[in-house]
Amino acid sequence: MIPESFIQELLSRTDIVDLIDSYLPLKKAGANYVACCPFHSEKTPSFSVSPGKQFYHCFGCGASGSAIGFLMEYSGIGFIDAVKDLAGRAGMRIPEDDARGVRDEAQSRRDAQNLRDITEAMARAAKYYYGQMKRSERAIAYLKARGVEGEVARKFGVGYAPDTWQNLDAEFENYADPVLQAAGLVIRNDQGQLYDRFRDRIIYPIFNQKGEVIAFGGRVIDAGEPKYLNSPETPLFEKGREVYGLPQARAALREKNTAIVVEGYMDVIALSQHGVENAVATLGTATTEAHVRKLLRQVDRVVFCFDGDNAGRKAAWKALENVLESLVEPKTVGFAFLPDPEDPDSFVRARGKDAFERLIAQATPLSEFLLRELSSREDISSAEGRAALVSKAGPLLKRLRSPLLRLQIVRRLGDASGFTAQEIERHCGLPPIAQASPARAPRRNYSVWNRLFRLLLQKPELAFRLPPEFFEDASEVSEALPAPPESGAVKSLCETIFAAKGDAVPSCAALLESARGTANEIFFSEAAAELIAVPFVEDDIETEFVGALERLSEARRKRDFEALQKKVARTGINGLSTEEKSEYLKLITRGKGSKES
Ligand SMILES: [Zn+2]
Repeated sequence: MIPESFIQELLSRTDIVDLIDSYLPLKKAGANYVACCPFHSEKTPSFSVSPGKQFYHCFGCGASGSAIGFLMEYSGIGFIDAVKDLAGRAGMRIPEDDARGVRDEAQSRRDAQNLRDITEAMARAAKYYYGQMKRSERAIAYLKARGVEGEVARKFGVGYAPDTWQNLDAEFENYADPVLQAAGLVIRNDQGQLYDRFRDRIIYPIFNQKGEVIAFGGRVIDAGEPKYLNSPETPLFEKGREVYGLPQARAALREKNTAIVVEGYMDVIALSQHGVENAVATLGTATTEAHVRKLLRQVDRVVFCFDGDNAGRKAAWKALENVLESLVEPKTVGFAFLPDPEDPDSFVRARGKDAFERLIAQATPLSEFLLRELSSREDISSAEGRAALVSKAGPLLKRLRSPLLRLQIVRRLGDASGFTAQEIERHCGLPPIAQASPARAPRRNYSVWNRLFRLLLQKPELAFRLPPEFFEDASEVSEALPAPPESGAVKSLCETIFAAKGDAVPSCAALLESARGTANEIFFSEAAAELIAVPFVEDDIETEFVGALERLSEARRKRDFEALQKKVARTGINGLSTEEKSEYLKLITRGKGSKES
């Protein structure tokens, strides 16, 4: 658990404009900055970043969030990793559980320096390996035999680690530098001897989205074990998240709006050599949700390309399971299977680009692959088999967030099983499909709570002017003053504002982060997104705020009056205490006065 106060401080030390600008160049436009959205393909910029609110929003696809949210979305990483990344940039150290709030500045500086040192060592090693490749007849012969030409080798930085034990000693001044071991380049054995991890291997550098080398994959040239050797996990490199070939594929991904996912580095390189530039690979692991999210952010269509054998089908099913939750309209996923025993490398070399692209274009849609696989596991000629089919589909359908796709699958499941769509939905316990929200109207007619919420989000210091009894209102429920979800959101918003240290008022983005993982999360981010589109005019804020408070205290009086009225009906006017009596009379007179308004 990362303490809330840490997140708040982290966001106050981070500038979202700098952060996003380091990934995609931003242009100033009025009070905000704009760019073409990295999360959907577009020609004119509708992605907007607000320095004031420390918040981004895309008017095209609706993506929005704080600096943390941006990192999560853009890099496909989790919350903790995004916080770690930002903390590294801000020179902050995430407090340990046992020393909450106590941060060791020196340690965090050391960590950041260590990360920079490793990054630099990786870059130097990559350059060294690339240089060695150009000098090694053996490596060149291998790549030639694989049909890889110089230009493609350069594009992917393909290198060669010579067949000696301490290659890198020639490149680095201090071979014993612990950074080389931390980078996974050099290994120390039990006798304390140092030697290179990669020897006599073709080297495939793995780049992150920024184009920095974060790891290497090494493949033996002749026979040998292991066939593939990867860098170990380091502070730079976490398997299961990285996609091979992403920076090289970026332009083609944008152009084709489709990503082809293959299994190996050589597949990506061979495809590129033959003009298929939009292929990427997972790094020797099964496809994870992080992979899928990362890709679906950049393109609308992902096609998984697997070998046609049993292992390929199993891997495809695993990919399907990991894609269900990330799939929202208009994103689509397909599965292409190569004729056994081909892999993409051998296929494209033997049959060329057109044949491969046809295979991708004719990929099996997710719905069909899902039904085909499930049906093949049950005997659907029997009633029991058909019922089992529906039962097995249930958990998968539940995870689908795309209503159209779900409907499509349910209908086809109906055809196959003989159940009606409704029966299937009921049997599988599927939640009703939410109606697509209508296009956003500029400032709808919000409830008073909702309006107040938006005002506070835009100008958090207003929270200090809320009267104390207001917080009772927010927690009490009555007929006259039902506590809608918004009142709870207002209350938690205020709590975050009050909890901020010193005089600092949290930014909109910081407030937003406080709702992450709570029931209010969506409400918060929708309100914040709208504030970027249609902020309150500064001059109107005071009037709006006072107006909202008046309406709330009016509602409060009405509630109190009704309570007293009920009591009077029950016990007569004499059943009231003296205090209640005078309150009652006051409310009667006031109530009359305010009827007109
Ligand atoms: Zn967008």
